[in-house]
Amino acid sequence: MTLKELKAGQSCIVETVGGEGALRQHFLDMGILPGAEITIVKFAPMGDPVEVRIHGYELSLRLDDAAQITVRDSVKKAEEDKPEKRKSKVAHPNLGEPGIHHDKKHENPLPDDHVLSFALVGNQNSGKTTLFNRLTGSNQHVGNFPGVTVDRKDGAIIGHEKTVITDLPGIYSMSPYSKEEIVSRDFVLDNKPDAIINIVDSTNIERNLYLTMQLLETERPVVVALNMMDELTGNGGSVDINMMEQILGVPVVPISAAKNQGIGELISHAIHIAKYCEKPLEQDFCAPESPIHSSIHAVEHLIEEKAKSTGLPLRFAACKALEGDELILNQLDLDENEKDLLEHIRVKVEKKSGLDPAAAVADMRFTYIMQLVGSCVTKPVQNKERERSEKVDRILTGKFTAIPIFILIMAAVFFLTFNVIGAGLQWLLEQGIDTLTKWTEKALVAANVNDVIHSLIIDGIFEGVGSVLSFLPIVVVMFFFLSLLEDSGYIARIAFFMDKLLRKIGLSGRSIVPLLIGFGCTVPAVMSTRTLPSDRDRKMTIILTPFMSCTAKLPIYAFFVSSFFPGQGGLVMTGLYLLSIVIGILIAFVYKKLLFKGEAAPFVMELPNYRLPSIRSTLQLMWEKAKDFLQKAFSVILIATVVVWFLQSFDTRFNLVTDSQTSIMALIAGFLAPVMKPLGLGDWRITTSLISGFMAKESVVSVLEVLFGAEGGITAVLGTVEAGTLLIFSLLYTPCVAAIASVKRELGWKWAAALVVWQCILAWIVSFLFRILMLAIGGAL
Ligand code: GDP
Ligand code: MG
Repeated sequence: MTLKELKAGQSCIVETVGGEGALRQHFLDMGILPGAEITIVKFAPMGDPVEVRIHGYELSLRLDDAAQITVRDSVKKAEEDKPEKRKSKVAHPNLGEPGIHHDKKHENPLPDDHVLSFALVGNQNSGKTTLFNRLTGSNQHVGNFPGVTVDRKDGAIIGHEKTVITDLPGIYSMSPYSKEEIVSRDFVLDNKPDAIINIVDSTNIERNLYLTMQLLETERPVVVALNMMDELTGNGGSVDINMMEQILGVPVVPISAAKNQGIGELISHAIHIAKYCEKPLEQDFCAPESPIHSSIHAVEHLIEEKAKSTGLPLRFAACKALEGDELILNQLDLDENEKDLLEHIRVKVEKKSGLDPAAAVADMRFTYIMQLVGSCVTKPVQNKERERSEKVDRILTGKFTAIPIFILIMAAVFFLTFNVIGAGLQWLLEQGIDTLTKWTEKALVAANVNDVIHSLIIDGIFEGVGSVLSFLPIVVVMFFFLSLLEDSGYIARIAFFMDKLLRKIGLSGRSIVPLLIGFGCTVPAVMSTRTLPSDRDRKMTIILTPFMSCTAKLPIYAFFVSSFFPGQGGLVMTGLYLLSIVIGILIAFVYKKLLFKGEAAPFVMELPNYRLPSIRSTLQLMWEKAKDFLQKAFSVILIATVVVWFLQSFDTRFNLVTDSQTSIMALIAGFLAPVMKPLGLGDWRITTSLISGFMAKESVVSVLEVLFGAEGGITAVLGTVEAGTLLIFSLLYTPCVAAIASVKRELGWKWAAALVVWQCILAWIVSFLFRILMLAIGGAL
């Protein structure tokens, strides 16, 4: 029987875990191990994926993946021992109780002027961002890890200037499964931070400690920050911290990042272990009689020399080699003889334990964790947060309620962003820019500045950057809501119930959010893809979002509806939006077949309890995104603005033009006009307006109005079919420069440039087909 065949509410015991490679390792790392009890919580409204509970937390799995896991009926275990376990055996330590782990055997502190480096490592949703903000305050630097677009945040710990702490992407294990995990693992192994701060969600301790086990193997000093203690103790649970320290051999500090408890003690421990290079005291996390024990030691013996010469921590490399981790094996570069010996050991493990080596290693870790938890964690009597989450989930992911509520929530976010808060702020900002422009203009006139400079400042820089800056409020407000949705745990639910739909076009559930935001504005949509876990999905989502018709195109639609299709606005708009979605879907299929072969990222995702987002983290994120956007506005966008201004303001002899028809822009537009001729859009004024639409879509209309004069001018040049063609062209052709700048930031110049060219070509083809079709229909009538 496989996991897929079970019904909601049923429990079973995992027998074998199928699949291969990284996905299988990921299953194992998430605790899906032979012998583990697994319960089906519910199926997504569309029947796939399925939510399961294992080791006391919720995971979302696709049915195809569930089919690879064979299970047997769980025999009801005798429950008698449970109440006993729940009783607190020790007086439970309070938050911030001083630890006992102060081994100063190797009393040789690093010099005082040494900058201590820390890595903040932990599972997703364990409170990493919240803790990082607590540790560093506003003293942060955001950047990228070299060579990849994975966010990297560094900062100094408050009150300790000679420290730098790096927030690493959330990971579940040190097996490279996604690009983020590779980044985190490489950082720990290659950068060798002076110490690791390992944040552990105490309400989810089994799975979180799985990562801890591996971190201890890296031989870096580790301090465990046991987070969410407020929830654990609030529910009547407790942890015997001193015992846990003794078992793990590293300092353990109970904290609550959200409530700012225990942070001071965490800092002093972290500084201490880093300064004194206090390595973990324990690494050998297996029962001496277990079959895996001797095998790991045999592998250690085998690879000792190689590990030393490549600088890999021995125990870590041995476990990974046993698991069959390709990256580590390549690094170790064993010779044939050694490979044979390793294979021999692996076969022996399999024979003795009945599990393949990867499962045996994972099993060893979980067995150890279970013992540890059994001896020093008093599980809560109840779990208020879980119960609350279940109640909320009954509605938010309910069979009939999930999608309507999702639509309502997104509609509310859109309404508030684009009509209320965002629009209000935008109005204010525009007023500000207007006033500033007027003052500057006055000053320039008073100072008798020459015409070119005057025009450059007012028509070029102020106008251009001003129009792009007006995106800023939208970006900021959008990220405010997104951050609330993400941190509360709702985005994970959206991914859960939208996955089946999105998988059809080769994406996974999470991509729905950026795509939807694309209907508002491509800029925050592209920026929000940062949170997508898989690189492939991220790329594909980014190049799909411009196909979602953004709100800046609305003025274009409105203009043409009023000029050409009065009274048919609803029809035209619906048609355009449908077209954009249909084309988006078709394009996704093409991308899937040509550019992004292979399956969408495997989808084994945690569904965390709903939590109240921290305002501090939310504000921090808004600030980061605003900064990010401003940097763009003042680099790429400023350059583009000046170029467009230049083309519009000068003729070929570099004289300021008085009649726009003589500008370089008009010349270029004239060159391009023949290309647009087959679309019936061969007028240079139309080409000019489209080129300026590259700056901001709204300016298509303003340029048309200027060049054609007021009402009626354009209707003399274009027929209704051509008006339709132009609408479709505007719908599909290159995104504006702000959007391109965001794409460039995520994917680099090549992709951004390719996107511009490709969308123009596509827009041309579709518009052309539309025109032929309409003319043919017209002829037939
Ligand atoms: P990350 O995914 O690891 O970066 O986790 P976040 O820092 O975004 O935290 C996830 C959620 O848990 C947020 O809603 C936080 O407000 C919440 N949270 C973080 N730390 C604590 C804590 O100590 N106690 C409680 N109750 N909630 C917390
Ligand atoms: Mg976070």
